[in-house]
Amino acid sequence: MKEMSMDINNTEEIIAHIREKTGKEDEEVKQLIENKKERFSGLLTDAGAAFMVAKELKLDVNAAESVSENLKINQLEEGMNNVDVAGIVKQIFSPRTFEKEGKKGLLNNLIIADNSGEIRATVWNQDVKKLEELKVEKGSKLRLKNCYVSAYNEKPQINLGFNGEMIVNPSDLTEGFPKIETNEKKIAELREGLSSVDVKARVIRVYEESGFEKDGRKGKVRNFEIGDDTGKIRATAWNDLSEQVGKLDQGDPIKIENGYTKKGLKEEPELHLGWSARIVTAEDEGLPKIEELTDEKIEKKKIADLGEGDKFVEIEGRIIAVQPGKLFYEVCGKCGRKAKQLETGKVCENCGEIEKEDINLVIGVRVDDGSAQIDVAGFGNSAEKIIGLGKEEFKKKEKEEGIEKIFNELEKELVEKKIKTSGYVRKNTFSDQLEFVVKTVKFE
Ligand SMILES: [Zn+2]
Repeated sequence: MKEMSMDINNTEEIIAHIREKTGKEDEEVKQLIENKKERFSGLLTDAGAAFMVAKELKLDVNAAESVSENLKINQLEEGMNNVDVAGIVKQIFSPRTFEKEGKKGLLNNLIIADNSGEIRATVWNQDVKKLEELKVEKGSKLRLKNCYVSAYNEKPQINLGFNGEMIVNPSDLTEGFPKIETNEKKIAELREGLSSVDVKARVIRVYEESGFEKDGRKGKVRNFEIGDDTGKIRATAWNDLSEQVGKLDQGDPIKIENGYTKKGLKEEPELHLGWSARIVTAEDEGLPKIEELTDEKIEKKKIADLGEGDKFVEIEGRIIAVQPGKLFYEVCGKCGRKAKQLETGKVCENCGEIEKEDINLVIGVRVDDGSAQIDVAGFGNSAEKIIGLGKEEFKKKEKEEGIEKIFNELEKELVEKKIKTSGYVRKNTFSDQLEFVVKTVKFE
């Protein structure tokens, strides 16, 4: 006998089904549905939540495959449900966090196309991670099953539903798609004024984050440097991407999609990663080794063998203590130099009176590798990496929770952790002891 197939958009029908099959009270079923909705940050319809509850109770609520329909992109209209759409990825944006009714969620927008047209598609929460895991990129073909159609800027937009499915490059999708032009450039080919460029490169250096305010809204920005076999370029990442760049390590192979170029400080082109850009992990192939890009041969050493003036050395050991301190110092927001406290107020030796104050993060940890111990100091981006927070995030947390709480949490997190760091050795003028200054850092 054929299983009962129900209207999966009819909440009442599903609830009735659950009651009948499980003997649960109406109240209890409704509570389960409410709990489910809460977990989805308000991004779930009543019917969707009911459907998931029924599935968890192992009830057969077949979303009747015959309901979903394969449609061409130009046939999609707002309000449609359970549609299957196939398209080629024309553009993929970066994941974005959002807040709805006080709950955080994640979304990722794409533009997909077939020969009939193109449409904006949105995937939500756990499906966002799938995009990355399945290596979806410009030119990938996608089949999105069980989508619903909403509207964005008065145009239809498809959304992958909670019971949806995403299939990447299915073998049967061969015809009916436009050709997607990729605009991949070597660094030496980058000139100012280009848009939608893709660049594959290796991360050479990541700088610390800065905050800014524009039109009353707060933003974050971070510079970094990348290189390929033709040259190096300075890059700038804004907002969510600044956070992502902060997590990159020196040497990481990456691909930047949809960047644009502008004239930089020294009249040279600079690569910008705006709201439509994206960074993905790339294959190592075809990229020069990091040593070739930095001209730095890094030598591994035991702590006991370190001497004053050692440069480009790497040590590996365990953190045995976090040095007490306030984790940041005041700087001039204009030039970044350390602020000097005078009786009359804070001044910058470069700009004079400080108009805009900012901070830099700093942290000291004691590292032991079995041969000896040394104090390891991180400033700016290195400190952000060790602390595990970007500067803007740190400021927010410091305001909300206070420095003591951050410090205690950090101590718990860091002590006994294995650390691998490259940098240089100098004598600390206060303690008269050797100190290791971090340039790159990795935890295991
Ligand atoms: Zn200054």
